[in-house]
Amino acid sequence: VVAIPGKATHQQTRAHNAALVLRALYDHGPISRAEVARMSGLTRTTVGDLVAELIEQGMASEVGRGPSTGGKAPILLELIDGARHVVGLDLAELRFRGALVNLRGNVVQTAEREVGTADGDEAVDLVHELIDELVKGRDDTLLGIGVGAPGIVDAATGTIRWAVNLNWPDLPLGDMLRERYGLPVKVANDSRAAALALQLFGERQTGTANLVAVTVGRGIGAGVVLGGELFHGDGFGAGEIGHTTVVEEGPECRCGRIGCLETVASSRALLRLASDEGEANPDSFLGARLADDGHLRLTDLVAGLTADDAATHRIVARAGRYLGEVIGGLIGVLDVERIVLHGSVAILGEPWLQAVRDEARRRSFPPLSANVHIDIAAPIGDLVVMGASALLLTSELGLASGRAAAGRSVAGRIAAGRAA
Ligand SMILES: [Zn+2]
Repeated sequence: VVAIPGKATHQQTRAHNAALVLRALYDHGPISRAEVARMSGLTRTTVGDLVAELIEQGMASEVGRGPSTGGKAPILLELIDGARHVVGLDLAELRFRGALVNLRGNVVQTAEREVGTADGDEAVDLVHELIDELVKGRDDTLLGIGVGAPGIVDAATGTIRWAVNLNWPDLPLGDMLRERYGLPVKVANDSRAAALALQLFGERQTGTANLVAVTVGRGIGAGVVLGGELFHGDGFGAGEIGHTTVVEEGPECRCGRIGCLETVASSRALLRLASDEGEANPDSFLGARLADDGHLRLTDLVAGLTADDAATHRIVARAGRYLGEVIGGLIGVLDVERIVLHGSVAILGEPWLQAVRDEARRRSFPPLSANVHIDIAAPIGDLVVMGASALLLTSELGLASGRAAAGRSVAGRIAAGRAA
């Protein structure tokens, strides 16, 4: 294929300009055409054309008149939040969850499927079912599909290279969904999608451009955001800390190796250790809880912490220390000041967090660790689903991207230019 440079450049320029206009409406609407022109640096004619197109596409509307500055009061424009939708999916281990979200990332509809023992093609069928349910009757407003999946995901093509439980070796999920739905599709590792969501929606006030978000649930993984962008690594495995060996001669891991972080710090590991403790000591707090129900949940551990049960505290602190050990290593490599923990294990709260913090500090270089803040994420919704949707909004419309890093965002640069 021979590209015609002039034509390509023209199209690129137009797309770029359209994104600037969209962004101005998104961040500052309702605003007048003149204000859009001032903010974007585009001519009034160009803005007028692009706005007309957005109105025709049903993406923007005129919403009355603003205050007059002497002449005729200007007509104000606004982006229509519900004009387009994206599907965000979280293909978590036990349950696939999905949501239809609007341009602001607000959830319009949700759906989910139990995974049970489904794997391979059966699990793919569940993904299709979930999307079918979410997109029913919305075909004309769909922008695309974003997916967060466990394991190693080639984010460039959307191919799942390796997923522990789903038996999807080299599954070209991105291509399969693009073909089936005829829409743009983005697939990323779930921990990375969650990190993006936290950076875009959770850390906005702090203006954080660098962030490590660590998922601690049945699996453990991290997402690394540097300079407002997800860092994927050379093999799309940046942040795969769950299978770092932390115990010599330790328990066997799902990955086939021994003593991985997941075997001592994941929810499974915690529940296994707590059950062992309860079985060994039937009269203890955990023993009584175990006898009640036949198995333990993380909420039983929360109850144990609240009741100041020594064994529960010991188990939780040990898991926290192993996690802290690995996080200490990250601090040395990345010198990132914001580390956020999330996932089901974060329900253990302060005693767990304190163990993570203490160990991370103990194992990292003091001049670096002195400035590090390790916290549990504020509950802002289903992070993987939100992150998956954000991937799509960012790639298709340039929305959501870099909102936290105002200095780097388009709007931020425009504002900076105006001030200068
Ligand atoms: Zn492992």
